[in-house]
Amino acid sequence: MDFLLKHARIINFDPQNIKEADIRILDGTIAECGKGLQPRKGDELIDLSGKYILPGLVNSHTHLYSTLSRGMPSPKKAPRNFIEILQKVWWKLDEALDEESIYYSALVGAIEAVKFGTTTLIDHHASPNHIRGSLDLIKDGMLKVGMRGILCYETTDRGGMKKRDLGLEENERFVTENANNPHFHGTIGGHASFTLCNDSLRKLGELASMYDCGMHIHVAEDTADVLDAEENYNTDIINRLEDLGALRRKSIFAHGVHLNQKQFARIEKAGAWMVHNPRSNMNNAVGYAPLNWYGNHSALGTDGFPADMFDEAKFGYFRNVESEHRALFSQIPTLLNNGQKLASEFFGQTFGTLAKGNAADLVVLDYFPPTPLTEQNLLGHFLFGMNSTMVHHVMIDGNWILWNKQLSVLDEEAIMAKAQKVAAKLWKKMNK
Ligand SMILES: [Zn+2]
Repeated sequence: MDFLLKHARIINFDPQNIKEADIRILDGTIAECGKGLQPRKGDELIDLSGKYILPGLVNSHTHLYSTLSRGMPSPKKAPRNFIEILQKVWWKLDEALDEESIYYSALVGAIEAVKFGTTTLIDHHASPNHIRGSLDLIKDGMLKVGMRGILCYETTDRGGMKKRDLGLEENERFVTENANNPHFHGTIGGHASFTLCNDSLRKLGELASMYDCGMHIHVAEDTADVLDAEENYNTDIINRLEDLGALRRKSIFAHGVHLNQKQFARIEKAGAWMVHNPRSNMNNAVGYAPLNWYGNHSALGTDGFPADMFDEAKFGYFRNVESEHRALFSQIPTLLNNGQKLASEFFGQTFGTLAKGNAADLVVLDYFPPTPLTEQNLLGHFLFGMNSTMVHHVMIDGNWILWNKQLSVLDEEAIMAKAQKVAAKLWKKMNK
């Protein structure tokens, strides 16, 4: 189906502008954008008078596998630090995941993401007792909703070498099978430097090099990761990642809470991406990521929190204001917009700017500004006015996935009812 969207107020963040124009969409691409476009035979005409259109949002680091953790029982003894949070919460959850719970985690997470106006998820998956084929389960859940994704498996040594090898295989399989997929791509996933020996990191680096798809890995989220490189390998964490092939073009480094200014510059120079996850960093009390040192190659992620990028941006902005690392007012919206540039590197199609030739991934917002909204103060309205409850319609690849706040093809109520049963089973299995 081709569409002519009439009288929309189009918002772009890069370059920052607002214009009233019509958009013609053909085969998932913005074919024309301008004033006074006339419908052609077969076009469905949609009047968007009074509404704003934004480019579809990208969540640049998340873990769909944690979707069903919401409200789960807390560990008997509260974790005292980051390593205990992993051991007592997340590693217990990922070990309990099976085929059904992986699929429902992805399906539910994708449904929520679309309702928040997020059209692409960059996911980092772990399910140590169901590794082979796990990325296809995530893909199936997201595909059912109609989202785009860049997926990987979190390879680690913590389950032994056999499971490590399964992780390597799963990444390689997914990358090769989806090389020409318009909705999915693979990258090479590693958990974190501190759970990977030199041999494992080198093998991941070799795959990332062979397929030119970068490595997706947690970096310096907690001091434990930085100290591991110093104490066990007598080097700094970025040297270690560079020596073993992880620091490269398209690599996605999540967090960077404990990196210094020089290390950020090296990551930028290598063409790798840094992803800031403010809500997660606060929740895990790992410290504050020095946002003013992040370079131009930086994006915004939720690290397992729901993919509400409006919320993540607000938390990120406010936490920065009270920090000693004050960044520009535009920094957080820039990070959010950069997620679309990151996705463009993988998909080879331009996301993030609603202009001729670019992907038809867009969000229609019901926003009635109570004060003048101009190109100059757009970011003020974005950070202090707009929110995800205003998301009205969502289009991905030229298809209306959300229409009038309703999923176009899925029965959300039935899926959530089933997900509750799957979640209850998963929690029971975790506590065995
Ligand atoms: Zn993460």
